[in-house]
Amino acid sequence: MKIIMLGAPGAGKGTQAKRIAEKWQIPHISTGDIFRMNIKNGTELGMEAKKYMDQGLLVPDELVVKILLDRVAQSDCKNGYVLDGFPRTIPQAEVLDAELEKLGEKIDYAIDVDVPDENIINRMSGRRACVSCGATYHITYAPTQKEGVCDKCGSELILRDDDKPETVQKRLGVYHQQTQPLIEYYTAKNILKSVDGTKDMEDVFQSIVSILV
Ligand code: ADP
Ligand code: ADP
Ligand code: ZN
Repeated sequence: MKIIMLGAPGAGKGTQAKRIAEKWQIPHISTGDIFRMNIKNGTELGMEAKKYMDQGLLVPDELVVKILLDRVAQSDCKNGYVLDGFPRTIPQAEVLDAELEKLGEKIDYAIDVDVPDENIINRMSGRRACVSCGATYHITYAPTQKEGVCDKCGSELILRDDDKPETVQKRLGVYHQQTQPLIEYYTAKNILKSVDGTKDMEDVFQSIVSILV
């Protein structure tokens, strides 16, 4: 099963993608995580991507598409995957579709996690990310056992630079302009499913499960 998660920054795509990946035993592929790992390791790709990420802008399509296509060509993806944060533009979606078509494959579902802008700032300012394993938490809605420490690996948690309110506003604008048109794109392909992302995490997951089973 091949699934795409759509939604504003902070809508809960990553949270739900991880749960889908676990339940269906398929890889969770986050382009944001791939970039952050590259930044941490000081690669050339990371340095280039960081320039855009810090400003709340999208990384150019050419840089994103190649790493995503390489990733989905790996053998662990043969039974499907859940994409989190890709595609984010119409050209990215078109390239993905064209590549899949060559292989006689297609995306099965695009799930839009719908959360209004008013809720997003609050979600993002409370998000905490682990510096080493990438796990995410929320100070109110998904707290760790010990404040500031990752439950999974014991490393320090941080507020991502791009989760500060000024950058979040910018990212929301970019989302509406460049990413939201994908909702129409996948509606036209008859694979769009929308879930109410303002509900609590478990309820959102149950809505998704009822779509996928
Ligand atoms: P969030 O989960 O909050 O929506 P991500 O971790 O998915 O954020 O992405 C962080 C940043 O990485 C984005 O703001 C953007 O700069 C970059 N990025 C991630 N995926 C893509 C993509 N598919 N196209 C362009 N830029 C991307
Ligand atoms: P995205 O990947 O779309 O950027 P995340 O999954 O990282 O979003 O979620 C953003 C923040 O909101 C995180 O701190 C997460 O713990 C929290 N969160 C996710 N889903 C919900 C929900 N349904 N209710 C409340 N908080 C949530
Ligand atoms: Zn961790």
